[in-house]
Amino acid sequence: MLAELRDFALDLFWSWEPRVQALFKALDSQIWEESKHNPVVLLASLGEAGAESALQRPQAQAALSEARAARAAYKSRPPAFNAAEAPLQIAYFSLEFGISEALPIYSGGLGILAGDHLKAASDLGLPLIGVGLLYREGFGHQRIGEDGGQFEEYTASDFPLLPLSRVVDRSGLPLTVTCPLGPATVTVAVWKAQVGRVDLYLLDTDLPENQPEFRSITDRLYVPEAHRRLPQEMVLGIGGVRALGALEIEATVFHMNEGHGFLVATERLNFLRRERGLTAAAAEQAARASLIFTTHTPIAAGSDFFPPHLVQQLLSPYLEETGMDLEHFLDLGRKQPGSTDEPLCTTYVGLRSAGCSVGVSKLHGEVSRRLWKDAWPGLPESEVPIGSVTNGVHLPSWVSPELAALLQLHVAQDWWNLSADDRRWAGVENIDPAALWAAHTQLRHRLVRHARSAGEGGGLDPEALVVGFSRRFATYKRANLLVSDRERLHALVNGSERPVQFIFAGKSHPADLPGKAILREIVQLAREEPRIAFLEDYDIEVARLLVQGSDVWLNNPRRLLEASGTSGMKAGANGVLNLSILDGWWDEGYRPTAGWAIPSSVSFEEPQADDAGEAKALFELLEGEVAGAFYARDSAGLPLRWLAMMRDSISHTAANFSARRMVLDYLADCYAPATERVDRLRRSTVGNPTN
Ligand SMILES: *Cc1c(COP(=O)(O)O)cnc(C)c1O
Repeated sequence: MLAELRDFALDLFWSWEPRVQALFKALDSQIWEESKHNPVVLLASLGEAGAESALQRPQAQAALSEARAARAAYKSRPPAFNAAEAPLQIAYFSLEFGISEALPIYSGGLGILAGDHLKAASDLGLPLIGVGLLYREGFGHQRIGEDGGQFEEYTASDFPLLPLSRVVDRSGLPLTVTCPLGPATVTVAVWKAQVGRVDLYLLDTDLPENQPEFRSITDRLYVPEAHRRLPQEMVLGIGGVRALGALEIEATVFHMNEGHGFLVATERLNFLRRERGLTAAAAEQAARASLIFTTHTPIAAGSDFFPPHLVQQLLSPYLEETGMDLEHFLDLGRKQPGSTDEPLCTTYVGLRSAGCSVGVSKLHGEVSRRLWKDAWPGLPESEVPIGSVTNGVHLPSWVSPELAALLQLHVAQDWWNLSADDRRWAGVENIDPAALWAAHTQLRHRLVRHARSAGEGGGLDPEALVVGFSRRFATYKRANLLVSDRERLHALVNGSERPVQFIFAGKSHPADLPGKAILREIVQLAREEPRIAFLEDYDIEVARLLVQGSDVWLNNPRRLLEASGTSGMKAGANGVLNLSILDGWWDEGYRPTAGWAIPSSVSFEEPQADDAGEAKALFELLEGEVAGAFYARDSAGLPLRWLAMMRDSISHTAANFSARRMVLDYLADCYAPATERVDRLRRSTVGNPTN
């Protein structure tokens, strides 16, 4: 029995399956909440005897059988995709994975996207594994000081209390692999997180056999210093590919999620030359065929850059041993090959190494072709081989249980698993307006309650319009856009007829001082305005509350600087109406029947944003159409026009911007063609005895 509970705890399937969460709640709902929804901590606190006796209660017994049924049904789902003819095994590399608040190895959008990718692959039964790093201290917790400034608090995770297991080798001993670092060698432990039907392998250098400076390589996520970041990316890329070897996993496709994984490309070459005996040219061709690269940044400076002397110091013994020329390698990462002072840019390495490269929305594909065209000198911009796969979100993880129940009733039992063109999405139109409004009102109340219990937003009215704004505090996201007209903002928030309240959340990168200054401005604003709240320590749990309980989701970046944005998709699928600049995903997702576009004059030709003009347009929308539609009620108190927009937003966003659709797009556009390329190459070299 206890072994079974532990089994449930170690399968992160619980992070999106309410019936397994209900089992943990039934064991001890208080510890479940206090543990930040970590079932391993829950079981450890109960102890064997405690868990045993908790399980004897009839309610827990009933929950157990429900959880068993849910998991068994999930595991036995047939694959929901057309299998490629050739063998397919995808390895997905990312520096962060956001799966649950209980596994603090993520910072924000990139990690949550990676987590949603794994979850959707699991839903689909796609043969995919993840590779990442296991951080002792993660990204740190955001704390707000007396002066309103952010500081970071780091707490060390106790790995045995996380939903993970240490991977052992055939003889039952903990598995380790090695990773070169300059002339030295780092030993790397391998952990496994089970994400439904997908395994996520996490690498950890905090081992007693390593010298202290190596033990700390995997301490924190996104260390800003190049000399600390490069070793992390070496462990991810080189150590990660080696871990697959040690695990006897023969991947056919290697997906580098952002430039951090650029050394996957190098280690693949190394492997193909050493283990498969390919010539340099054949290895390059074979490696390229199997590599997929996703770029996430819309500005060149968003990449990682490593100075040549650092690359030489840390990588040259490895490159030498594997027969790669240092200058040639550095050139792969340069805008201008041969310019010896130019640092190595990981995005260029990714683009030049992969057989398939994509941006994360249609517009970002266009931005990327413009940004990185120098990697293909002579090609016109429109022919630069960077495509796009628009991001998506894992619906069962983000759609509220209240709305999910309505979707089960009116769309399909497995509504989250429908294709974009499935006619059953039209069933959303049949959701009773009163039922939808009741569900949403409950979620807004929950959000306001949460803010109040955190000592924030003392004046928030749970019946009045709430605008949610949460994302990383970077200057281009302009969290303070409305603060530019403080009087008008004050009037908007405190209007007696149609108040518009705001709840903010989000972190700044610890080293981003201008971002931190904007954050302080918002914290101070929230201290002055009782109907504006700032929620500390934005994470998956806070995000869920916000994207489910807000009425409007505001996003006002300077146009062309938001690659995709996924929080708006989470909101939209919950019927929270997007009010956003036509940037990233909203440039293709916007429909006047489901949200609003904030006008912006920015274009490729005219990149300068008119902050004041856009702020004015945003005020006009909020005071006019947005508040107008929200507060227009029928005799039963229902905002019927608003509810029609909510239904449109739910069906359109859930159908088109799910992680399921994203992973299937990757399969069709990248994974399957890569597998075919690899297979073709393999066949054409069958004469080679080493193949
Ligand atoms: C979804 C999410 C993000 C990313 O949202 P953007 O819209 O891309 O800014 C960041 N952090 C958390 C906790 C999220 O859930």
